[in-house]
Amino acid sequence: MRRISKLLLVNIGQLLTLRSTTNGPRRGASLSELGIIQDAAVLCLGGKIVSVGTTKDALRDPWLKKNRKKVVEIDCGGRVVLPGFVDSHTHPVFTHPRLVDFEKRISGANYEEIAEAGGGIRSSIDGVRKASRAALTQKVSAVLADLARHGTTTVEAKSGYGLNLESELKSLEAIRAAAREWPGTVVPTFLGAHMVPPEYRGRSQEYVGLVCNEMMPAIAKGKIAQFADVFCDRGAFSAEETGQMFAAAQKHHLAVRAHVGQLSETRLGPLLRYQPASLDHMDHVNDADLPVLARSNTVATFVPGANYFLGLARYPNARRFIESGVAVALATDYNPGSSPTLSVPMVMSLACTHMKMSPAEAIAAATINGAWALRLADRKGNLEPGKDADLAVFDVSDYREIPYWFGANRCILTIMNGVPSRPLGS
Ligand SMILES: [Zn+2]
Repeated sequence: MRRISKLLLVNIGQLLTLRSTTNGPRRGASLSELGIIQDAAVLCLGGKIVSVGTTKDALRDPWLKKNRKKVVEIDCGGRVVLPGFVDSHTHPVFTHPRLVDFEKRISGANYEEIAEAGGGIRSSIDGVRKASRAALTQKVSAVLADLARHGTTTVEAKSGYGLNLESELKSLEAIRAAAREWPGTVVPTFLGAHMVPPEYRGRSQEYVGLVCNEMMPAIAKGKIAQFADVFCDRGAFSAEETGQMFAAAQKHHLAVRAHVGQLSETRLGPLLRYQPASLDHMDHVNDADLPVLARSNTVATFVPGANYFLGLARYPNARRFIESGVAVALATDYNPGSSPTLSVPMVMSLACTHMKMSPAEAIAAATINGAWALRLADRKGNLEPGKDADLAVFDVSDYREIPYWFGANRCILTIMNGVPSRPLGS
C-alpha cells in the first residue's frame, strides 16, 4: 500500500467537486449542485487535497512550478473525476452466495418456503459461525478490493450473520483486519440485531437482553464498532425493541442507525429521538413523518439494489423525500440474500430509472450525503482543500454517463487517502 505523497491529476474533462453550499447534508435543490469545473486539476499532498481548480491555474501555482519534478502527474485525458463513492450500507461478512435461494425465488418460492428449504439468512449464519476469522478476513478483503475497482473509497461494513457474541466479535475483527490492509476507509457497524437467531425463536426479549447487556458492552469495550444498527421491521425487531437497543448503544457510546420500512411501515418519531445517523430502506414510510425527518440531520438511505434483486415492482418514493427536504443517500446494501452488488454506479442507475432521481442527485446521494450518513462529512464526500484525497476516475466524458452505461464498470482508477487502486502507468 503506497501513498504517493505528491499527486497531481490534470486534464480532467469534468471535475465534480461537490463543494459545500450548505452546512448540513444536501437537501432539495442543493442535491443537484455538483460544483463542476471543466478542464480541471487536483493537487494532493500527504493523502489530503490541497488545491482544486482549472489545469491552467494549477500549473501557474508557484509551489507547483518549483516542485513539478517531485510530483507524480496523472493525465486524465478529458475524463470525469469525482469524489470516491461513500457506500454507507453493506453486509460484507458472509461465506457463500445464496444461489439456491436465487433460483427458488425465480421459480416463485416465497420467503418462508426458502427458509424451510434451509436457505435464507439462516444459511449465512451457519456459514459465519463455522468460519475461521482468517477465512472471513479474506472474504472481506476481496470485497474491499472490488469496491475500489468500482469507484468506492469509503464503506460502512456491518456484522450481523453471527448473532452470538463470539461470532459477532469474529465478524467485526475480520472487518478490522481487512480494513488495516486496505487504503480506503472502513466504518464498522455492529448488527447483532439483524434478526432473532433460530435458537431464540419466540424469545425475542431474551435476545434483545443479550444484545443490550452482553454484546454491546463487549463491542464497546473492544472499540471494534462505531455504530450499532437494528433491523426494525416485521419479522425482525419492533420499534419498542429498537428503542431499547438504541438506548443501550448510546449508553456505551455507540452511534445508532437502523433498517426501517423495507417490509412494513414503522412510525419514525420514537426512533428519531435517538438521533440516528441514518434510517435505511424507507420503502414504507408514513407521509406525516417526512417533515419531522426533514427537520432532523438523520439521512434517509435508499438501497434500490435490494428492490431490483428481489424483483419488486415498487421502489422507495425518492421524489417525495427530496421535495419534503429530507437528506437522502444511496448505498448498495451489498449482501448475499437481497443485494449482491458492489456497484454504486449500478445503484445510481436504478435510482435514476426507477426512483426518478436525476443523475446529479444520484451522485450527490452516493458521495457527500453518504458521508453525512456515516458522520464523516468533515473528511469525505467532496473535493475541497483539506479533505481526504479520495477520488474516482471514470472513463466517460460526461458525468451522466456513469448511471447511463448500466451494468458496465467504467471506473479506471480510484485514489484512496492518496493511494492509487492500481500501479500508475499500467
Ligand atoms: Zn442491510
